[in-house]
Amino acid sequence: ALDQPSPLLQSLNPEQLAAVTLGPEPALILAGAGSGKTRVLTTRIAWLLSTGQVGPAGVLAVTFTNKAAKEMLTRLAALLPLNVRGMWIGTFHGLCHRMLRAHCKLLNLPATFQILDMQDQLSAIKRLHKQLALDEERFKPKELQWFINACKEEGQRAHQVPARDAEQRHKIEFYRLYEEQCQREGVLDFGELLLRSFELLRDHDPVREHYQRRFRHILVDEFQDTNRLQYAWLKLLAGRMEGNQFVPAGNAVLAVGDDDQSIYAFRGARVGNMADFVREFGVRQQIKLEQNYRSQAHILEAANRLIEHNQGRLGKNLRTDQGTGEPLRVYEAPSDYAEANWIVDEVRQLTGRDGLPAHQVALLYRSNAQSRVLETALFNAGLPYRVYGGLRFFERAEIKHALAYLRLLDNPADDTSLLRVLNFPPRGIGARSVEALQAAAQAAGCSLHDAASAVPGRAGASLGAFVALLDALRERCQGLALRQIVEQVLQHSGLLAHYRAERDASERVENLEELLNAAESFVMQEGFGRDAVALPLDETAAAEAGAAANAGNPPDEEPPSGETLSPLQAFLSHAALEAGDNQAQSGQDAVQLMTVHAAKGLEFDAVFITGLEEGLFPHDNASSSAQALEEERRLMYVAITRARQRLYLSHAQTRMLHGQTRYHPRSRFLDELPPQCLQWLSPKPGAVAGLARGSTGLQPAWGRSALVPEVPGVPGLPSRSAPATADTHGIRSGMAVFHQKFGQGKVLAVEGRGDDARAHVNFTRHGSKWLALAVAKLTPL
Ligand code: ATP
Ligand code: MG
Repeated sequence: ALDQPSPLLQSLNPEQLAAVTLGPEPALILAGAGSGKTRVLTTRIAWLLSTGQVGPAGVLAVTFTNKAAKEMLTRLAALLPLNVRGMWIGTFHGLCHRMLRAHCKLLNLPATFQILDMQDQLSAIKRLHKQLALDEERFKPKELQWFINACKEEGQRAHQVPARDAEQRHKIEFYRLYEEQCQREGVLDFGELLLRSFELLRDHDPVREHYQRRFRHILVDEFQDTNRLQYAWLKLLAGRMEGNQFVPAGNAVLAVGDDDQSIYAFRGARVGNMADFVREFGVRQQIKLEQNYRSQAHILEAANRLIEHNQGRLGKNLRTDQGTGEPLRVYEAPSDYAEANWIVDEVRQLTGRDGLPAHQVALLYRSNAQSRVLETALFNAGLPYRVYGGLRFFERAEIKHALAYLRLLDNPADDTSLLRVLNFPPRGIGARSVEALQAAAQAAGCSLHDAASAVPGRAGASLGAFVALLDALRERCQGLALRQIVEQVLQHSGLLAHYRAERDASERVENLEELLNAAESFVMQEGFGRDAVALPLDETAAAEAGAAANAGNPPDEEPPSGETLSPLQAFLSHAALEAGDNQAQSGQDAVQLMTVHAAKGLEFDAVFITGLEEGLFPHDNASSSAQALEEERRLMYVAITRARQRLYLSHAQTRMLHGQTRYHPRSRFLDELPPQCLQWLSPKPGAVAGLARGSTGLQPAWGRSALVPEVPGVPGLPSRSAPATADTHGIRSGMAVFHQKFGQGKVLAVEGRGDDARAHVNFTRHGSKWLALAVAKLTPL
């Protein structure tokens, strides 16, 4: 369609070019890791916009993480002089949220509705559980949460779930009551965002038709990980259901994916959506990309050979021109602690001698629990790092407390938030008072906030005082800017004073202060007033009125500005939706730590895959089924293919996990890699008796582990819990100690011995830390 090749398109290979410049029709790109799928998707948006085929308002793009969405916006902003922020680019949750905000009236949702993250959802479920006096053993709150979320992911409301037996009926009834509770309190969990948005499109023809006309181009990255409901939602944006039959409306839907990277089946993702998409949309354009632009040959070869162990793949080939590169370095450590130290040494080399920026180095692990040891080692070595996922900034207790107050300003009916801070900071409201309050609210069918005045006696007085505090705070915040609102809340809730007075809470105070910065930078980044956080009201009205004004005239233009969300509301939604960004450490060049799941779609010059042990990776719960094992293998494929130049694989003979020492044989995935691509840095397994996979006898393959004494009766198994202190550098639990940098502290626990020994110390001024005793000099006081 272009007379001259645009510079946008110059570096693309022919298959990529074909995909970028496809006509406005449904298409599927099925291609392996690093073949440029995401790049094609981004370039296509840029090409569509720059050739005037569509305006920014006419594009909807779904990515899997907030990080990926941001990345895409940044890339587009660099490619185009347009204001790309008005475009609908985001995660399924983010986009659904945006849609719901625009139509809350129609949906009978309070305009101030708030989002429950997983943690909040669980407390809401526990509260209901208690209220119904359910049997803890028969109905575990976590299982109920899982049940409810699974139903929602299947698109089922309580009344639509088939009841197989009495057990199931109870669960369904619980689901129904939970739905009522959420509606009453004006809160939506993650699953609800999607389900509501789906129902909105399904049940309101004018709204659906409005969005169909608007989003002529719909692009979906990581399509292999969409679940049933997400796919159904996409279908409604691009057509309608007639009975069981899907009738496409002619939108250009581009789905991009890789079946070998499907890693969310455990959460309901359906690779089958790809085949359904081809069939239901009548896809004629199926594009394959076979050139990998990311990884050097050894890395790619390892990935290709590994994934061949899976059955029933759609089958793809990948080649690379990036050179052979170095072999993958494999390290077998005597302990998780030694593994972490080895990694730190290698990271130092990479960022020092080899000159890599720290953010080009990623440490990947299968489970969040593995990060602690790595963090300790990095911290002790003074290397800046950043953890994605795990305990995110917005999930820390002190931050959640502050957010709860902020939410109550906006929505007093938010009972979860109210219960969180009712007696925090402590103000003498005990469990009895809370029970009385809950009973009063139940009797009156109103929120806890409104029920406070109905509670008699002393309890009533203190509850009344709390409600008065909230109301006064709300009054105070009228008309203030977001930062000032947060300031007021921190002051007048008593939170700041509480943590300032508490020993060892300096980090919490710092975090609360960081919340002020987060609020401020949120307002700046979002460019409040310019950015359409939600659909402006007039467009909403048009959509709901049947969009008569727009008939025959695609609403391709940037919608007129106008907000339905206050900065506070937008900030609270952001806090609930934001995945894995640790704000407190942003801005620094830092080593990146994350789970393999969180690394999907990303790339780094150097990658460490740690903890390659049976039971860890592949995970324990994959041992029972062949399918689950294949998903673990795909996860390993994702991990390997994140690396551009250097890939390091490591495993430990012993590991502390969940408070226990574990002895895991090395991961079968190491044995599935082509030997010629690997360089073993420790004695090659098999060379030493007893190290073969599946054997439990772990002979010391390593000089240092010979120092470790044996547990009587279990030859070869090192012990970590001997009482003597000779091997723990004279440090015992309970001791008062002094550290050069952190000052005075008390030892809470000591683990390991010799080179592996480490202590958990609670420092008076710096909070609790894990220190490696061989490195950190602790002086007993
Ligand atoms: P994944 O499956 O891991 O999500 P992907 O298929 O989305 O990978 P991209 O992330 O789009 O792959 O691309 C991988 C890398 O290759 C990126 O750094 C990208 O900029 C680069 N790349 C893609 N196509 C080309 C090209 N034609 N020329 C040069 N570099 C390219
Ligand atoms: Mg990608």
